[in-house]
Amino acid sequence: MNTYLDERFAALEEYTPGEQPKDQAYIKLNTNESPYAPGPATVAAVADAAAATRLRLYSDPDSTKLKRAIAGLYGVESSNVFVSNGSDDILNFVFMGFCGKGVMFPEISYGFYEVFAELHGTDFVKVPLKEGFVIDPEDYVGKNKTVVIANPNAPTGRAITLDDISRIAGANGREPVIIDEAYVDFGGTTAVELTREFDNLLVVQTFSKSRSLAGARLGFALGSKTLIRDLEKLKYSTNPYNVNSVTAAAGTAAIGENGDYMENCSRIAATREWTVEKLTELGFQVIPSLANFIFVKNDVIDGERLYRELKERKILVRHFGSEAIRQYNRITIGTRDEMEKLVAEIGDIIDDGGKEPGQ
Ligand SMILES: *Cc1c(COP(=O)(O)O)cnc(C)c1O
Repeated sequence: MNTYLDERFAALEEYTPGEQPKDQAYIKLNTNESPYAPGPATVAAVADAAAATRLRLYSDPDSTKLKRAIAGLYGVESSNVFVSNGSDDILNFVFMGFCGKGVMFPEISYGFYEVFAELHGTDFVKVPLKEGFVIDPEDYVGKNKTVVIANPNAPTGRAITLDDISRIAGANGREPVIIDEAYVDFGGTTAVELTREFDNLLVVQTFSKSRSLAGARLGFALGSKTLIRDLEKLKYSTNPYNVNSVTAAAGTAAIGENGDYMENCSRIAATREWTVEKLTELGFQVIPSLANFIFVKNDVIDGERLYRELKERKILVRHFGSEAIRQYNRITIGTRDEMEKLVAEIGDIIDDGGKEPGQ
């Protein structure tokens, strides 16, 4: 293929985001967004910050107010907080700056890790999981490489414990350990308190899922002053204004109404349990999930066929083509109403026999 790109990017395979259909006809259960709208204070703050007089000026490159709000919520100092344009942006900095001795991450996990490793020419090891997609902390101990683990993991929803994280961070000497907590608010336990104990531990979170702000692009990281200063250096060497003023205002206001967002998360967790029960009754195997999605398969219908049949019925879920997980679909937990429709359609598809068309 023709390209003007430098040779070093010749083999780079970019990340493929989930579909974002332009029409609103779908029940969208494919990219783990919240089914609930942002709260009223968040929306008002956006309108206020978007006033023409404010947009004239650059955003605060230190995001002072936003950092103070996040620090207050998690009981840390502002100097323990880094904010950026989505947590993907933070992970990009992690792979850019913290992986010189190589990096290891679970073989089945967030697909972007491998893309970032390739982008930055980092040596990487994909660590196989145990039966049932279980992450074994011992696989990450004493390897003297940077560790990146999503907890709960994606796309499986399975979580490791704080003891596991202590073990990995404590045994890993000087290399950073990054815990990607994109889904922690749906039932997991954050490792933030461990960042006091382990200077090499970085916790990465996002406003995209639990706080209904995927479109605003806002992620944050919590860790030792040293790790945060290192990240700031990379940000100030890339794009100091990468959190725009409208997004910073949205994030600050969202922390102000955090209780409401956490109630939404509880609601989603309850809907998740209901959905698990119904799909189990329909014969699905469901990986135990603490996230706002479930990872499911069925012996009757091939994973890709289920994805296609649901899409025909205007329900989008996420299917991954890679060999180890091609029988599975990752289904975002929506509203109870949306999940009732999903369960009904799946029941229908199974009643049709899970047969190939024309049989
Ligand atoms: C969604 C997701 C992210 C990216 O979140 P943004 O803040 O929207 O960039 C990071 N890690 C995992 C595991 C995710 O699922």
